[in-house]
Amino acid sequence: MMGGRVCVGLTARIKKGLAEILCVSSRVIIDRVMSEIMASLIRLRPHHLLCTQGYEGRGYSKEFVANMTAITARLRGEDKTSVQLVFSTDDICDACPQKLAEDLCARNDKMKLLDGKVCDYFALGEKQYIYQELVSEIKAKMTAAMMDDICGDCSWYSESACKDIIVCS
Ligand code: SF4
Repeated sequence: MMGGRVCVGLTARIKKGLAEILCVSSRVIIDRVMSEIMASLIRLRPHHLLCTQGYEGRGYSKEFVANMTAITARLRGEDKTSVQLVFSTDDICDACPQKLAEDLCARNDKMKLLDGKVCDYFALGEKQYIYQELVSEIKAKMTAAMMDDICGDCSWYSESACKDIIVCS
């Protein structure tokens, strides 16, 4: 559980990052996004357990980047964050221009394939996990061949640090 001072510090850092990304002066928007993210049980689809580790601040739109930055800042800044694994669109998808409807991405077949591979490799179910524990387990088991199999067709893969960050062995 986070102490109050740590929480305030993390919130301030995320707000600063969001303000820089969005280049807006309205603190009202940033405050609303942050309070929602800090208070919520984050829903993640399986392959986003990998994306949230490799994310470097780039994405499909300003709104996507702002949302992804806030979510990853919380996941990386806390010691124990409960997350709900969902076999559907998630809290990251919610700000993505590729999301067409609930459980429907513009590249649905590809995304479902990614999710399925992550679930199969790491025996994941649609339930709650502690994000940091799950990520440690994934990093301990992930090999370069597994990572290539899961993420090889992703357009971000060749130009991101995902593999360096996630594959330890
Ligand atoms: S809607 Fe599709 S492209 Fe967008 S974050 Fe979700 S899975 Fe990725």
